[in-house]
Amino acid sequence: MSLIRSWVETANRPDHPFPLNNLPCGVFSAGHGAHCGVAIGDFVLDVSALERAGLLTLQAAPLFGEPSWNKLMAAGPAVWSAMRQRLMALLAEGSAERSAVEPHLHALSAVQLEMPFRVSEYTDFYAGRHHAFNVGTMFRGPENALPPNWLHIPIGYNGRASSVVVSGTPVRRPWGQVKGPDDAMPSLVPSRRFDIELEMGAVVALPSTNGQPVTVAEADDMIFGYVLLNDWSARDIQAWEYQPLGPFQAKATATTISPWIVMKAALEPFRVSTPQREVPLLPHLQEHGPLLYDIALEVGLTPEGGRETIISRTNYREMYYSAAQQLVHHTTSGCAMNTGDLLGSGTISGPTKDSRGSLLELSWGGKEPFEIAGGTRSFIEDNDTLTLRGHAQGEGYRIGFGDCAGKVIPALADPYGRT
Ligand code: CA
Repeated sequence: MSLIRSWVETANRPDHPFPLNNLPCGVFSAGHGAHCGVAIGDFVLDVSALERAGLLTLQAAPLFGEPSWNKLMAAGPAVWSAMRQRLMALLAEGSAERSAVEPHLHALSAVQLEMPFRVSEYTDFYAGRHHAFNVGTMFRGPENALPPNWLHIPIGYNGRASSVVVSGTPVRRPWGQVKGPDDAMPSLVPSRRFDIELEMGAVVALPSTNGQPVTVAEADDMIFGYVLLNDWSARDIQAWEYQPLGPFQAKATATTISPWIVMKAALEPFRVSTPQREVPLLPHLQEHGPLLYDIALEVGLTPEGGRETIISRTNYREMYYSAAQQLVHHTTSGCAMNTGDLLGSGTISGPTKDSRGSLLELSWGGKEPFEIAGGTRSFIEDNDTLTLRGHAQGEGYRIGFGDCAGKVIPALADPYGRT
């Protein structure tokens, strides 16, 4: 696969995140309400306007009447594919329809990006081998780092759809109940160990039936695309609350996603296999082909008024379990999935120190503060901006996701207004 050239010149730049090969799906507003659009070069193309103008008719009833991609996602793979083919024809170099399409382009610099889809439910996994090993080593020592179930199931918990926000949304440092090992009683304080988790989010498009588990192949077909995902985590709150039912308030402050859903079709050339299994998976979880993607990822930390430091570089291919396998496990009991379900991959850490996907790991539980431009960090400080970026590298083009950024603003002075 090589670059597909467009008459939108910026889309042909080899380092641009949004070539014609990509066409990621977002929602934008430009002073006249919010609309579905796809990114192309430095522009967003208003697909709802194209649909109204009769230039993008995918089925009898409109798909883009509301500012979310849920309806298109629910329409299924044949419609997704028809949409991509039609948009590629409209935007390809030499297209006869350029003059009809051009009025529906808006400069990305002039629009506000919003949530690209309605999140039905949000499930977060713990499926990165290096992350699980690092965190387990910190808490239990290297001999017992992985829980006994870890190599057999992708461990997960049900999160909150209401906590998912789009890139650019400020994230307020949470209050929570904490208790240090030497404290006689817990206390309610602003989190002192607020952190990120570098993850990918899989966007589920096709529902499954209650009572009916899905296979790995069915699960892969149910996924529409992927976003970058930062699962903000309060480590001190988590340490006190997580046993025996798992994280709760530590993960409920916010989960930030990138504004663009990159469709699976755009990522197809970058499929890679999951790693060699250390112990065989049970048959229902076994993969029959490559289910991960080669997506280079990085995290930048920018203090207020300061310069950004890239604190981690890793790759989505480091995961032990794919999103499809997570979906299989999720439905083993017969749990139904819905259009708009979001699956967090789990923190994506690589094998090296500079490829760790959380500050907890980068600072080894706060014991080894790391350097940034003009200072050091163990955990996030107020007014730090954390930015996740990712792209798949093709021959002469790349598939980008757009920034997944959030600034951590100071905790409320008194959340219950008692002073
Ligand atoms: Ca997580």
